Amino acid sequence: MKLSTKLIHAGVEPDPSTGAIMTPIYQTSTYVQTAPGVHKGYEYARSQNPTRQALESAMAHIENGKHGLCFSSGVAATDAVLRLLVPGDEVIAANDMYGGTYRLFTKIFEKVGIRFHFVNMQEVSAIEPYINSNTRLIWAETPTNPLMNIVDIAALAALSKKHKLLLCVDNTFASPYLQNPLDLGADLVLHSATKYLGGHSDVIHGCLVMNDTSLRDQLYFIQKSCGAVPGPQDCFLVLRGLKTLHVRMDRHCSNGEAIARWLRKHPKVGKVYWCGFEDHPGYAVAKKQMRGFGGMMSFTLKDDSLEAVTRLLSSTKLFALAESLGGVESLINHPASMTHASIPRDERIKNGLTDSLIRLSVGIEDVDDLIGDLKQAIG
Ligand SMILES: *Cc1c(COP(=O)(O)O)cnc(C)c1O
Repeated sequence: MKLSTKLIHAGVEPDPSTGAIMTPIYQTSTYVQTAPGVHKGYEYARSQNPTRQALESAMAHIENGKHGLCFSSGVAATDAVLRLLVPGDEVIAANDMYGGTYRLFTKIFEKVGIRFHFVNMQEVSAIEPYINSNTRLIWAETPTNPLMNIVDIAALAALSKKHKLLLCVDNTFASPYLQNPLDLGADLVLHSATKYLGGHSDVIHGCLVMNDTSLRDQLYFIQKSCGAVPGPQDCFLVLRGLKTLHVRMDRHCSNGEAIARWLRKHPKVGKVYWCGFEDHPGYAVAKKQMRGFGGMMSFTLKDDSLEAVTRLLSSTKLFALAESLGGVESLINHPASMTHASIPRDERIKNGLTDSLIRLSVGIEDVDDLIGDLKQAIG
């Protein structure tokens, strides 16, 4: 089955009791047993919920994996993966990634004795020196947030297999429509379904997809023991979002390309970070592992004073100034003070995330209107 068909049909069966074509929202905390231990596979909704299971099955199909697990947020899914580790274990993570992941690693997991190495993953050969007998996990994000750097997933998977490490790829920016890390050798794929999968800025949700059944069992144990499960209404919203992912992503990609190329020609714009430019350092790898370049990009103004940046951020009318991304509506964001404020300034700047960087999540509105909005705001 092709992806566009899977997005609509995978994991979803008509409701056996009524024939309802849409998965019902099973808003229940518990299930009746006919005698102790005699039930239909459902005991308590932290452990099993049919709406959640439909989404978990859909996610597994869509990411070409065997198992899906859903969580109350993308961060909760990340937290579950890190709970596989014990004190003394080490993790190699990208030095350019989602601020909330960085915060979780450094403020919560470092405290309990897990050690993190934040490295530039654009050259996979630069990673090997950080691997030692305590290393357990490689954590990658590609394209990276917000600098749109590309990491070669297949090369990373070869390295992690050689050293028997677990490789988790945060696939939030690309979405399963543009990239499937399990096919390239990753062990785990993570999504903040809050973004493109939900697609309508109306839900917080996370999921993991994997092939290995023992890894699934360990993560399922963590899911039910730690309890960061999503409610059935939220699972329904993500299931609903999935059905149009392919149509939305096509428009995100074409609008994104038009805007990136327009920005690059603008005399007041400095650098534009978008992985579809032929001279982007990761272009060849992006071409190889992605089916399109998405709707995310960042840029700077030639006048990188705080006044100029602030003026722009408060003058757009269609691009709303807000955190998050991946919804149908366009958003503009200032990573240094918003999404990435939890990364220390020195650390940020060292990795290229300057105070003047502006990030766009290009929505699916008419592209002429979007360009018109940026034109009047940049001036
Ligand atoms: C938003 C985001 C997350 C965290 O997801 P939440 O749903 O907000 O908890 C993780 N990774 C990336 C790349 C994100 O953009």
